[in-house]
Amino acid sequence: MDFAYHYTAEQEAFRQEVRSWIEDQIPEGMPDPLDSKSMSKEVWLWVKEFRQALGNKGWLHPTYPKEYGGGGLDTEHAVVIMEELQRVDAPVDGLRFHDNTLDLPAIAVWGTEDQKKEFLPPRLTGEKLGWQLFTEPGAGSDLASLKTRAVKDGDDWIITGEKVFVGGDAGYGSSETKAPDEWQMGEMFCLAITDPNAPRHRNMGYFYIPGNASGVTAQTLDLLVGHGKRQLYLDNVRVPSSRLIGGEAQGWQVAQTTLEIEHGGDGAVFIRDTAIERIFDWARDTKKSRNAHDQQLMVDAFVDNECLRLFSVRNSWLYSAGQEMTYQGSQFALMGKESAIRVADNIREVAGLHSLVNVNDPEVLFDGEWESHQRESLAGAHPGGTIEVQKVIVARRIGVSRTKERAAPTPSTAT
Ligand SMILES: Cc1cc2nc3c(=O)[nH]c(=O)nc-3n(C[C@H](O)[C@H](O)[C@H](O)COP(=O)(O)OP(=O)(O)OC[C@H]3O[C@@H](n4cnc5c(N)ncnc54)[C@H](O)[C@@H]3O)c2cc1C
Repeated sequence: MDFAYHYTAEQEAFRQEVRSWIEDQIPEGMPDPLDSKSMSKEVWLWVKEFRQALGNKGWLHPTYPKEYGGGGLDTEHAVVIMEELQRVDAPVDGLRFHDNTLDLPAIAVWGTEDQKKEFLPPRLTGEKLGWQLFTEPGAGSDLASLKTRAVKDGDDWIITGEKVFVGGDAGYGSSETKAPDEWQMGEMFCLAITDPNAPRHRNMGYFYIPGNASGVTAQTLDLLVGHGKRQLYLDNVRVPSSRLIGGEAQGWQVAQTTLEIEHGGDGAVFIRDTAIERIFDWARDTKKSRNAHDQQLMVDAFVDNECLRLFSVRNSWLYSAGQEMTYQGSQFALMGKESAIRVADNIREVAGLHSLVNVNDPEVLFDGEWESHQRESLAGAHPGGTIEVQKVIVARRIGVSRTKERAAPTPSTAT
């Protein structure tokens, strides 16, 4: 049986158009830094320009409606674009990574028509970045215990609080931009308590704070992962009511749409773990591949990654077909987090100390990709809900917990 997907002639012609457009945009010798920490200001500025050019073509967010700045394309065309961006050695396939796009589904589902018209186009065309202001020093897994406060003042809300692990990634490596520049400070989607006397989950709003709002201070955190995350202090930040997404007590529900997508509820068609491809090449060259123990470790890593890819493809199909999901998003997130650690362990066992040598060492292999992969595999267990949190969600969705819950609406199921 042939499982390969065969594109139509029209889709292949579109691929050629995308390929030659991308190639035209990339200057010769453009470096491809592993993470934003090792990205120079020049490269970051180029990424900014490229993002906007891609956005103006509707290819940054291809499946969002054209009227809001998306491409109005179907999933197959979006996959072609994604594949072509992954094909080139330039810092372009991490585009989503250098931006937090999880506000988009929330606005698409919960925003008023005026809010969609105002907020979506600059985000979908790459003109503005997004920052997710959910986690606080005392509210991570237990997000609902957050303390940031929003107080009504006439037609505005005044927001005060502290958020952690938020970003805005790129530009971190440059001493000049260690504090985010004006462009990096994009739209901030922020949960804040609007009624401290209301019951949990019915006491908060989902605010869209402009990046240039006064009263916001950002400090860069030096984390195990190579991209800068920030601690943000909000001191009496004034936000107009027109920037409240959903009702003033509906923030928790709006946030569930963001989290549904963050947990993998929209899937992706293509995951390429290049660290695995590298270990195969390296093992062949060094004859390690002839060792039965190493063979098993590499096969396990390959199968792990392939299973993950298939779960992601399934979610992508369910999403694009408008099918309601239950446990599938968090099942994928859970598998991804656990499998990343297993794969990194296997690579380390086969490659030994080679896998831990960083980009500054003359002995480094593959520009330090493995070393970065080792760090990312551990740190990846936390963002968007930890391994334990994903298990709790799956348990609630499959009915083996004390509470039973359904998936939140997404742009796929709400329209
Ligand atoms: C690289 C990175 C990027 C991030 N980006 C963002 C961002 O852009 N925006 C944002 O808002 N947040 C972001 N986060 C924060 C992330 O969502 C939190 O780290 C995560 O939700 C866990 O919260 P915590 O760190 O406070 O850990 P805690 O909640 O304190 O958890 C500590 C440990 O206890 C376990 N635990 C907690 N509760 C339970 C329970 N009920 N049952 C079993 N085990 C439990 C956890 O699984 C974990 O292992 C990011 C984090 C990282 C590491």
